[in-house]
Parts: sequence; structure tokens; C-alpha cells
Amino acid sequence: MWLVFKRVLKVMFCIAFGLVCGYGIGTGVHYWLTQSGFILGEWKGAPVVVICEKSTLEDGRLQIALDFWENYGYSHAFFHRDISKLCKKKEIINGFILINDGNVPTGILAQTRRAIVGTELVGAYIVIPNENTRLSKLVEHELGHAFGLGHYDEKGHIMNPVLERALPKFWIP
Ligand SMILES: [Zn+2]
Repeated sequence: MWLVFKRVLKVMFCIAFGLVCGYGIGTGVHYWLTQSGFILGEWKGAPVVVICEKSTLEDGRLQIALDFWENYGYSHAFFHRDISKLCKKKEIINGFILINDGNVPTGILAQTRRAIVGTELVGAYIVIPNENTRLSKLVEHELGHAFGLGHYDEKGHIMNPVLERALPKFWIP
């Protein structure tokens, strides 16, 4: 009972702050998150992806994750490491997917915030703590959120909210 209650609290927290919680929040969350549909917004122009200065995410690791999404038609313009202090304010910037080191609530591995105007996705800010940047499937999963997707609790789906249940597979439910 307490577990369920805790999950509900966590979902309320995520919704209240406009966050999409990363892995590990449990399957009970799925129902809540998908109420508004699996695709929550779409980019009009391809976003530029930036690895913030403090992030230890490797270029090659990001490239694999970006290629994964490119295969499904989710394109980006290009990516680069932050050279112009774009991440300094830790805020969402229009036209960019920023990826930074940082803290996330206990029990989750990463977190993505998005700015959506109507159905248009205008910016995203991904926090992947440096100790988690090498975790398999995590970068793909968070990029999925940055490309406008919600969670899907089907075994093997990359947007499964539980890391152990996800595989690098994607389909639109
Ligand atoms: Zn997630």
C-alpha cells in the first residue's frame, strides 16, 4: 500500500512540475502518464543537441542514441559539446535539446523536461547524472522524451518506464 502511495506521490510531483520522470518509477505510473496520449508533442524544425560542459556523456554514445531515433524519423540538426555556455542557466532553450549532469529525485536514473506549445515541441532539457551516462538504453529513453514521447509499458519497448523491461526497440502503440 505504501509503495503504491509513494508512486502516486511521485507522479503527482512529476506532473506538478511538468517533468517526465525517468526510469525506475514503476509501472503504476504508466497509466497516469499515458492519459494524454503517447505522443505529447513534435518538433517542427530539427533540434540541435548539446552535451553540456559538465556532462561526461561520450560523443559516440550519444551518436548511437541519435542514430537509433533517426531510423524512426526523429531527426536532429547536429550535435556538439557546449562551447557557448548554453547550459549555464540550466534552463530549456528554444530549438535545443540540452543534456547535462545534475541531480534527479531518488529512485530515478534520469529526467527530461520539455517545453511544448500546443502540440509543438520547442525545447528540452535532459538531466543524466554522470554516473548513469553509460547505462544501456538510458540515453535513448530520455531522448525519446525529448522527441515528444511518453511512456509505454510494453516489454521490450524503449519507452518502458522500467529499465529492466526496456530493449532498444520502438513502435508507435
Ligand atoms: Zn521515462
